[in-house]
Order: sequence, then C-alpha cells, then structure tokens
Amino acid sequence: MNRAMNFSAGPAALPLAALVRAQSELVDFDHSGMSIMEQSHRGKVYENVHHEAITLVSELLELPKDYEVLFVQGGASTAFAQIAMNFLEAGKTADYVVNGSWGEKAVNEGRAMVNVSGGTIHVAASTKKDKNYVRVPRQDELTLTSDAAYVHITSNETIHGVEFAVTERTPFPKVSAPLVCDMSSVILGRRIDVTPFDFIYAGAQKNIGPSGVTIIVAKKSMLDRGRKDLPAVLQYRVHAENKSLYNTPPTFGVYLVRNTLAWLKAEGGVAWVEKRNRDKARVLYDVIDNSGGFYRCPVEPDSRSIMNVVWRLPTPELEEAFVKETTHARMIGLKGHRSVGGIRASIYNAVEPEGVAALASFMKDFAARHG
Ligand code: PMP
Repeated sequence: MNRAMNFSAGPAALPLAALVRAQSELVDFDHSGMSIMEQSHRGKVYENVHHEAITLVSELLELPKDYEVLFVQGGASTAFAQIAMNFLEAGKTADYVVNGSWGEKAVNEGRAMVNVSGGTIHVAASTKKDKNYVRVPRQDELTLTSDAAYVHITSNETIHGVEFAVTERTPFPKVSAPLVCDMSSVILGRRIDVTPFDFIYAGAQKNIGPSGVTIIVAKKSMLDRGRKDLPAVLQYRVHAENKSLYNTPPTFGVYLVRNTLAWLKAEGGVAWVEKRNRDKARVLYDVIDNSGGFYRCPVEPDSRSIMNVVWRLPTPELEEAFVKETTHARMIGLKGHRSVGGIRASIYNAVEPEGVAALASFMKDFAARHG
C-alpha cells in the first residue's frame, strides 16, 4: 500500500499498527463470533475494552488517584457549553484566557449559557493582535477575577499553532481558581503535570483515536461540584458515577482509542512521543527559519506549537501551488485553516518522522525553485 503522508489537523493520522490491529480483529473480535461494534456495551467483551482504554489514558498521563477519566460524546465543541453549564454557578464569574480561535469559541459558547448558568464570562486575557494570534499571554497580562468559578485555557491553539509551555518562558497560567483546559490538539503528545489542572478535555481525533470520542480527565472534587439540576446526560458527574456507561458510549471509537493508546504505550509512552514530536517540529521550524525569509512562521518562538506548525509563503499564489504540489506528492492536509490561510502541518503522535523529513526536503526544493 502507498500510505499517504497525512498532515491533517483532525481527524488526523492514526498509527498504522492500530489500524492493522482493527482490521485483523474486525469481523470476529476475541473469538466472540461478532465484531466489537455489535457487542452490548453492558457485556463483558466490550467492558474489558472500555476499561482497558480508560486505564491506558490513566497510565499514560500518570494520573494521581483523585482523577477520573471519562469518555463522552459531542466533541470539544459541546464541552465548551457543557463546562459552563456544569461549573459556572449563578452569580459567579468564569475567566477565559484566549490565545486563538478555539478559545474564542469557548468564550462564545460559555456566553450562550448565561441564561442557564446565571454566571458571567470574563476574558482575562487575549493575544488577538489585529487579525491573528502569535503568542500565548504572559502571567502579568492576566486580569483574573478573585473567587472565579474556574479559569479556562486552551493549551494548544490548533489553527494558529500557538501553544503554552513550549519553553519555560511561556508557562501555563498560575491561578487559584480551578483550572479548566482544552487540550484537544496536544493531549498525550507531550508530558504534562496534570496536578494544576482540575478539568481537562479533548476531542480524540488528533492524538488519541477517531472522532466521536471526547476524553475528559478531571479531579473527582471538580466533578462533584457540578450542577445537579441539569439533564443527567449533560452532567459530567453522572458519567463519572457510571464509569462512562451511563448510556451507550461510542463503542467502536473507544475500541480504536484502546488500539491507539496500546500502540503508544508499546512504543515507549509519552516521554518517547514527546521527543519524537519535538524533533519533528524542530525539523520544520528549522527549514522555515533558514529559508532566507521565503517561509515565515508568524508565531513567536517560545509559543510555537510542537503539534501544528503554521507558516506563510510570499504570496497566496505560491501557497496554492505549494498545497497543490504537496498533495500530488501524497502529502495531505497542508492547507492552513480556512479562517487564516497559509500552510499548516499537523504533526500529531502518529505522523512518522519520515513523512516530516520528506516534507522538509520538499520545502527546500520548492523554495529553491520559487525563491
Ligand atoms: N478545541 C481545539 C483546540 C480544537 O483543535 C478543536 C478541533 N479542531 C476543537 C476544540 C473542536 O473540537 P470538536 O470538533 O471535537 O468539537
């Protein structure tokens, strides 16, 4: 098979080993005479897979005992509203630290819930400069509310390629309120000390598996705090109490999460993949920075994402030609997000270094031809 080099932002590349395993197990799962998709979510066969996937998340993130792992549905976009529903008490304020479009969406969806929550959404910092985000906010820029219901951050802005804590000069905000983090595009892509975070959420479709599964990693104390007068399926606490089996979970998606994380663990876990991811990112940023200005990354060096590398070419016509030629060379998904243009290479866990090397080599050749 001529496997494409997939640089898509999500859904994104999955490890070949996880797909091959799914292929071999598809029709007759574990000698059950059925596929995993056909199993009851209350049956032993599925339950084993479900709990193995939860255990893998827990092990790979090195979670302390007071954290729960949940699999829910609706994507990170549903979580934007659901978090405000669950945790923004009436009369309280939730602070949002914004370093890109997903953070903006979280603000807007939180605001759409004010009639339900009775609370207020406050933008505690935003690095929107003119029309683009080029760095994460500094601690001294935050206007935090005392006694906030929570502080919401986006650890990696997928569209702008702007990430917190890439170096020690861009640390995560230090806050006294519960810290809520959208980690959709970087979770399990690098080591992270989870202890400052009370509630982490992520769509699976970048580093963890297919779309359709949303991962929640939260302190039990945070989940207990959630509102109890919401519909049950919208209460994170209910999902925790039922080990993510309150209603039918996305069983095939959870199965593929299991395969993907089993691959990650077997390869060497998060420390292994972080080194691999940082090396991949460095290869691309080096080509950009050494291109004599032909390629230009708008993001400040200490905020440059290790997962989504974005850059511009001298003209939109050259960007179009770049995307066309890379697609022809089986390098898929390099067109920047439609809201910002330019080029974006998403180099999540499953993207092989060989593909990144091929892209780097193509970039040098393209610059030599057009520079
Ligand atoms: N947050 C971030 C940081 C994302 O990258 C994305 C998806 N690209 C979302 C939220 C929205 O996720 P979903 O499509 O799962 O709702």
